[in-house]
Amino acid sequence: MKIDILEMTPTKAELVISDTNPMFVNALRRTIVSDVPKMAIDNVEFHLGPIMDEGGTAYESISPLFDEILAHRLSLVPVPTDLDSFIYRSKCSCNGEGCPSCTVMYSLNKKGPCTVYSGDLEPIGSEKFRVKDDLIPIVKLADDQALLIYATAELGTGRQHSRWQAALGAGYRYYGKIEIDHSKCDVGLSCVNVCPRGVLAKEDKKIVVRHPENCTLCNACTEVCDTGVIKVSGDPSKIIFRFETDGSLTAKEVLIKGLKILEERFETLREQIGKLEE
Ligand code: SF4
Ligand SMILES: [Zn+2]
Repeated sequence: MKIDILEMTPTKAELVISDTNPMFVNALRRTIVSDVPKMAIDNVEFHLGPIMDEGGTAYESISPLFDEILAHRLSLVPVPTDLDSFIYRSKCSCNGEGCPSCTVMYSLNKKGPCTVYSGDLEPIGSEKFRVKDDLIPIVKLADDQALLIYATAELGTGRQHSRWQAALGAGYRYYGKIEIDHSKCDVGLSCVNVCPRGVLAKEDKKIVVRHPENCTLCNACTEVCDTGVIKVSGDPSKIIFRFETDGSLTAKEVLIKGLKILEERFETLREQIGKLEE
């Protein structure tokens, strides 16, 4: 198997996986969606009763939304995740009580009128856990309304809940196999003009496949070509795989972790099959 990177940004990856098959790529897709862990807010405590500001003005601890909806919104805010520093709370030596090895705490203290954003979450402890995507609107507070919140983030996976899903929009398609019979082609350019992805071009008085990686297998070129000399098919052994992340982990981290998890799983399977054969 070979992986070529078409695009790799902090939150987006597009790869060409060769010498593979759809079953393997689908296993990778499912793994990065469901099994790559990330930190997410899992517990939110709301202060009840009046909230005073420095000048002694009293605010009501209330917002236009139910607390459950606010907690849900906060849980979906991408929390920066360092997979080397954290372990699952259930497996931590603190016995699940919460400690710096398994938990990150945040506070949020806002008084209306204002819009509360994800960037208003203040990490208690290291600044490296400050939310990078700081303009996600959470709620609009009216006059006299205020929120004082303590939230804890912990590690989980997308299999448990989508708030722990780092990879989004993960999908794949077959690499386009485009064959042109040059002996019959009249170089009429109808295929070049109809292609919505700029895959085909005219070079040295003949039609060439310039960007096969862009082909979506739409077959518009084969339908418009009067001479019928273009054949388009998908190659199941060469697959374009793409996904994005919510920013809590980089696309590279998600990919590497997903491949490691798959490797461990196949190794376990190999050991178990080996035992059956003994
Ligand atoms: S199948 Fe569609 S995308 Fe691919 S070359 Fe033909 S027109 Fe372009
Ligand atoms: Zn702990």
